[in-house]
Amino acid sequence: MWNKLLRRKFGWTGLDVPVIGMGTWMIEGRSRDAERQAIEALRLGLDLGMNHIDTAEMYGNGRAEELVAKAVDNQREQVFLVSKVLPSNASYQGTLKACERSLKRLKTHFIDLYLLHWPSSQHPIEETMRAMEKLLDEGMIRLIGVSNFDVEQLREAQHALKKYRIACNQVLYHLAYRGIERDLLPYCAENSIAIVGYSPFGHGNFPSSHSKGGKVLAEIAKRHNRTMRQVTLNFLTRDPNLFTIPKAGNPDHVKENSGAVGDWNLTDEDITVIDRTFPLPGADEPLEMI
Ligand code: NAP
Repeated sequence: MWNKLLRRKFGWTGLDVPVIGMGTWMIEGRSRDAERQAIEALRLGLDLGMNHIDTAEMYGNGRAEELVAKAVDNQREQVFLVSKVLPSNASYQGTLKACERSLKRLKTHFIDLYLLHWPSSQHPIEETMRAMEKLLDEGMIRLIGVSNFDVEQLREAQHALKKYRIACNQVLYHLAYRGIERDLLPYCAENSIAIVGYSPFGHGNFPSSHSKGGKVLAEIAKRHNRTMRQVTLNFLTRDPNLFTIPKAGNPDHVKENSGAVGDWNLTDEDITVIDRTFPLPGADEPLEMI
């Protein structure tokens, strides 16, 4: 009952990608045991169909990419693998070299989707996107994307690309931060750019079951025979253009998160109640990142 993971089209790419993927920021933890557990968690997620893995050169200074390689092993062709270049590395040459290093750590010849981690104040977007096109032409990446870009920055990134389209924008999206719903979500839907929401549990800042919001989530969860986290992930992916990538460092958590979508849905009334309980921020609140 918990394994019927829903998949949907990843924007204009038409690729079938699971709505709930796996995040790898800090999965390396502080010990060999934590690393072993992270590999186990990622492997379990793959078995459950969560074959969208998000990583980055930044995570654990490359260690997360190495752990992803161990977890993926001989299943590479079945995985939708995403990594990111740091803005400080995002010059033309810097992007090419960063991608080469990531490929080595990931033990693969291609990355399915390569993102600029956040807008760079050091390197013009034209340079980064020129490098992205070169990587795509050479088969080292299959799709180009960005992360933490607002609508204006997204337009500029698309404009900087000569031959290809932006496939995805990965952005902060959780119950206490729903700012993307105002402009970014409609813009991306119109342009068939997939939105991948990160930190769906607020990077660990999830409502306790004793808080006002937590009680609301708990009541809905009980009615559906699900958990508060599953209700939350279901709510955060209620729009057909949304994907999410909770952290996947613990097998029990991965299993629970995999049951957030698939063979059940929140009712319209549940959605209205959650919407009211965790309202959108003020109109002047800028796009945030953690
Ligand atoms: P998150 O997924 O919102 O929260 C992670 C926390 O939630 C951890 O403490 C984790 O505990 C816990 N957790 C996860 N599933 C749980 C469950 N079912 N029950 C109880 N606790 C659970 O935070 P995140 O790691 O910041 O975000 C997710 C992913 O998004 C990252 O791993 C990364 O891939 C991506 N990300 C991208 C950006 C960007 O700038 N593009 C920024 C931040 C994150 P355990 O560790 O014990 O499982």
